[in-house]
Amino acid sequence: MKTVANAFFIAVLLPLLLFARTAVALTAIVGGTVVDLEGGVPLKDAVILVEGERITAVGSKDAVAIPEDASTVDATGQWIIPGLMNMHVHPGLILPGKMANELSDETDAALALRMAAAARGMLSAGVTTIRIPGDDRHADLALDRSIRKGESIGPRIFSAGESVIITGGHGSSPGVLYADGPDELVKAARQQISLGASWVKILISGGIATDGGDIAEALMTPEEINAVVDAAHRYGARVAAHSGSSAATTVAVDAGVDSIEHGYTLDKKVLQKMKSAGTWLVPTIVVSQPATAPFFERIGSPQWYLDRRDSVGQQHWEALRTAIAVGVNIGLGTDQLPQEPNDGTTATVREAEYYVEAGMTPLESLRSATIQTAKMLGEEDSLGSIAEGKYADLLFVDADPAQDISALRRIHFVMKGGAIYRDDHGLAP
Ligand SMILES: [Zn+2]
Repeated sequence: MKTVANAFFIAVLLPLLLFARTAVALTAIVGGTVVDLEGGVPLKDAVILVEGERITAVGSKDAVAIPEDASTVDATGQWIIPGLMNMHVHPGLILPGKMANELSDETDAALALRMAAAARGMLSAGVTTIRIPGDDRHADLALDRSIRKGESIGPRIFSAGESVIITGGHGSSPGVLYADGPDELVKAARQQISLGASWVKILISGGIATDGGDIAEALMTPEEINAVVDAAHRYGARVAAHSGSSAATTVAVDAGVDSIEHGYTLDKKVLQKMKSAGTWLVPTIVVSQPATAPFFERIGSPQWYLDRRDSVGQQHWEALRTAIAVGVNIGLGTDQLPQEPNDGTTATVREAEYYVEAGMTPLESLRSATIQTAKMLGEEDSLGSIAEGKYADLLFVDADPAQDISALRRIHFVMKGGAIYRDDHGLAP
C-alpha cells in the first residue's frame, strides 16, 4: 500500500507540485527602443515578452501580441540593451596595502560573505554576467552555486576556481599551491575543473599586483602551457592566461589559449597573431589608466605597487589601441569590481569608454561587453543579446549607447533572468 502511495506521489502529485513551484511569470516590456547590436536600425516601440527566465518574443508592437495575463513594464522613452558582461572580476581580490592589512586574517566565511555582498552590487551596476579568472579558497564556486540556487543575489558566474600558479611566478603568496612542469600543471587544472571551474587560469608572465616575475617575460615553458590547454580543452573548459608579455603571448596563442588577460606590453606582431588565431584579449585597461588613481589611493596602495602600475600605463594604452586597429577579438574586463567607482561612473562603464577613446566605435564597445563576451564564453546561444530563447538579462538607459557609450552611465533598470533587480523610475507594476 505504501508503495502504491509513493508511486502515486511520484507519478501524479510531484509533477503538480513542481509545476506549481515553477509556474512562470509572464512580463511584457512595451514601448522601448531595442538597440540593434548588428548595427541595424533600432527596433522602436518594441514588445519584449519574458516568460520565466527567458525571452519568448521580441518584435514591433504590431508583430507581437501581449498576453492578457502578462504584467507590463512601460519602457516608453527608454533604450534597451542586453545586461553587461564583465570578463575579468575577482570578487574576493585583496590588493597590497591598507586593504591587505585589514583583511590579513579573513576567514573563509568572511571571504564568502564579502564576495556575496560584492555580487549584489554588480547586478545594481547592470552587470548580469561575470567571469572570475581565479579567486581564493573556492569561494567563487560556492558563490556561483548559491546564486544559481537563488540563495544569493548576483550575476551569472563563469569561474576558474583557484589560479594555477608556478613557483615564483605572478600570484605567488603564502598558502598558494604551486604547480610546475606539465604533469603538475595538468593535475592542478583538472582539480579546478572537477570542483566546478569552467575556465582554467594560468599566469604566464609577471604582473602588477605581485613582484613575481617581470611583466615582459615568458615565465612558463611551451610544454607547460600546451599541457594545461590540452587538459582543459579535453574537459570542455577554456583557458585564460594572465600575460603582459609579447613573448609569453606568442607561446600561448600557439598553444591554443582562449583568452589573454591585460596584455600590458603586447606588440603589433603578436596582436596580428592573436587576430589570425581568433584569440581573445581582455584588456582591463582601466587599472593602468588615470581614472583609477583615486581608487588606488583609497585602498592605500604601497609605492612599489603604484610604480609598477605607472610603468605599464603608456604601453598598455598603446597595446589596446593597436589591438583595436588590428581587429583583435576583445571581451570587456576590468580587474576591478564591476561597480567600483571610477571618474563618476563604474569601472565597467569607464572601461567601455576607454575602448572608444582607444579607437572603437560606441557600437563596437557595447558589443565587447555583450555579444562578443558571450561568444568568448561560448554562451552566445543564451546570452549577449535580446533575442527569442535567450535569458532575459536586460538594461534600460535613456539614450542610445551605440551612438554615445557614456549613455551607460545612466543605467536605471536591471533585469536578470526575468527578475527585476533595479527600477529607479518605478516602471514595473
Ligand atoms: Zn586579474
